[in-house]
Amino acid sequence: MLYVDGNWVEEGQLAVHPEDRGYNFGDGIYEVVRIYKGKMYQWEGHLTRLYRSAREIMLDLPWRPEELSEIALQLIEKNNLTDQDDASLYLQISRGTAPRVHDIPSGIKPVIMAFVRKKARPLEDMKKGWSAMLVDDIRWQRCDIKTLNLLGAVMVKQYAKNAGAQESILHRNGTITECSSSNLFAVKNGALYTHPADYMVLHGITRQSVIDLAKENGIAVHEEAFDITFLKQADELFLTSTTAEIMSLISVDGHPIGDGQVGPVVKKLQALFEQHINESVLV
Ligand SMILES: *Cc1c(COP(=O)(O)O)cnc(C)c1O
Repeated sequence: MLYVDGNWVEEGQLAVHPEDRGYNFGDGIYEVVRIYKGKMYQWEGHLTRLYRSAREIMLDLPWRPEELSEIALQLIEKNNLTDQDDASLYLQISRGTAPRVHDIPSGIKPVIMAFVRKKARPLEDMKKGWSAMLVDDIRWQRCDIKTLNLLGAVMVKQYAKNAGAQESILHRNGTITECSSSNLFAVKNGALYTHPADYMVLHGITRQSVIDLAKENGIAVHEEAFDITFLKQADELFLTSTTAEIMSLISVDGHPIGDGQVGPVVKKLQALFEQHINESVLV
């Protein structure tokens, strides 16, 4: 069952309106929420970010937070997720349907769509790490908005795949920003470095959890931009996201980072994160 524009529908019964602005322009916003053991992790944080993204694109959400929570909870229930299931919830809101013009039609009504999919945690990959490739950050200047307009992200991810790497690390004129759909951290002399949460990166919820966990456990965190030279000389690199959690990047452009294996700081953070999930109140 999916939730589409006020209705519960079966897969296969769907039609996208030809002039839905999400479809025509990528004009809309979204969230991906982790479900651990049948319950949502950090739902409040995702809701807060969704309303912020909406504000930034001049979209007035007609739903109260409690209404969106109800939709999410019903999705979990109607899809029979149990405390055995790890999953992800995808929720998108397009600006709505109207004759195709670029400016925002007045009186347009947003269209919401949400679904859940079972999704295992990437535990094996987290033990092995991923390879990465440096790619020019060809995205726009408002990467802080979680928008449906993801062609830049699609292309940079595919450049990495085409070159045989698992993820792209993006840079603007040599300054590292983030990855295609995750935030990036470097570890140097036991401290963490990551790009500040400004317009150039998405303000990841996992990024913030990792920063908080690190600080609580005596690991220094510097929210400072760094360059390619610093990246390549890092002791460890890792990315963070809702679905990838804390993923080590063991090589960049074929050159090993540190000793080319998942390092001690990543292992420590993964263990802290595991504990944090288990202690979090899920909804
Ligand atoms: C969603 C996303 C992230 C990670 O955010 P989380 O809230 O941790 O899932 C990072 N970068 C980009 C570009 C994203 O779209």
